Amino acid sequence: MKVLKFGGTSVGSIKNIKRVKEIITDGDKKIVVLSAMSGTTNVLVGFSENIKAGLVNEALESMDELYAKYQVVIDELFEASELKQEVSNYVDQVFDYLKSLTSEKHNEFLYNKIVSQGELMSTYMFTKYLNQEGVNARLLPALGFMRIDKSNEPDDFYIKQNLQRIIDEALPAEIYITQGFICLDAYGNVANLQRGGSDYTATIIGAVVEADEVQIWTDIDGMHNNDPRFVENTHAISNLSFDEAAELAYFGAKILHPQTVMPAREANIPVRLKNTMDPESYGTLISQDTEGDGVKAIAAKDGITAIKIKSARMLQSHGFLKKVFEIFEKYETSIDMITTSEIAVSLTIDDASNLESIVEELEKFSTVEVDSQQTIVCLAGHSIVKHADTHKLFKVLKDIPVRMISYGGSNNNISLLVNTDDKITALKKLNSYVF
Ligand code: ADP
Ligand code: ASP
Ligand code: MG
Repeated sequence: MKVLKFGGTSVGSIKNIKRVKEIITDGDKKIVVLSAMSGTTNVLVGFSENIKAGLVNEALESMDELYAKYQVVIDELFEASELKQEVSNYVDQVFDYLKSLTSEKHNEFLYNKIVSQGELMSTYMFTKYLNQEGVNARLLPALGFMRIDKSNEPDDFYIKQNLQRIIDEALPAEIYITQGFICLDAYGNVANLQRGGSDYTATIIGAVVEADEVQIWTDIDGMHNNDPRFVENTHAISNLSFDEAAELAYFGAKILHPQTVMPAREANIPVRLKNTMDPESYGTLISQDTEGDGVKAIAAKDGITAIKIKSARMLQSHGFLKKVFEIFEKYETSIDMITTSEIAVSLTIDDASNLESIVEELEKFSTVEVDSQQTIVCLAGHSIVKHADTHKLFKVLKDIPVRMISYGGSNNNISLLVNTDDKITALKKLNSYVF
């Protein structure tokens, strides 16, 4: 069994929906995970923000615009008038529900209910389309099996049991379609796996069904060696190890949700990145094999806060770092980079929601400096720390102020912290120095 995930662009137009149908109808039994049609989740997030800001008219207008787009798709995708009507009724019901939410009080639960609607619509429409085309496809509701626990980790035991039950209960099918991104939380509320989370859904499912392979189909021919949105002439990397891919995903390569690699690595299931627009191109194969040493790719993660903690008492005293770490632990804030000197330690976090309380506690025994608007630039590749060409990356230091460097934490990663304003320059310079 294979698990194939198609992202927003892949299901975002009639042309691409037809391409997806061609790709998945090869006669093999499979589970297909879909995102919302491209743009939908962004509109839903905006809708939720408008409700929060009390801008009900703006919120309703945005729904009318989105609704009009869905009407066009339904009109073009479905032939028989009864089927058109059936799908229209479903979509009408979703939009009526969304509009009814404008009178509710905004909170996280409301946000989660709103953003879940995109995947519910795309999977419903796509399953109906496949059925129209004579494909034996069934919809498996993700909210019937996908669940996270109290620490927001996938509840594998629950997922495995319930997915199996739902498959057993469904009529036999060649293709099972399900929603990416959405899930239930530990208390049964609608939740999600964070933006871009459909990739993660695919590997979570892949691991519980012990799939032969997970395929992530998107709008580019695999993981590129640098961020194609900011750097020209990047190219796809054919093979990456789980570790290399995990570093890149975690440190900002948007093609993969940060957690995607974890379930696949644990279950040793290869992950293939493929281009829906160009199915023949090789893409990227992520597996346990490592190929070649040295820097393979560069990625960048924005929204980082750097914290410098200085204390004269740190000098020759033990237990200082423990005290520091305990504060971060207390506020459930994870640390990405860390560097130390005799009198200070600098570290970075990407979740600044508890920053004020953290700083307050740190200031009880140290002086604290905070820099926001930072970006981690990550270089990943097997054994890059030892590789002879790696020194070239340090040339970037003479052109760009680098706030922190993390070298040697693992053999597969070197990270630099720069001002977000310098990110694009850093990516471009590194590209020309390193590759
Ligand atoms: P999907 O909607 O299919 O999930 P995403 O937009 O989430 O697609 O991810 C694909 C996009 O990721 C590409 O179009 C590309 O612009 C961006 N991207 C950023 N970094 C990389 C990278 N290193 N390699 C490939 N794509 C990348
Ligand atoms: N639709 C969700 C998002 O836009 C999940 C995904 O596309 O992976 O974030
Ligand atoms: Mg994505």
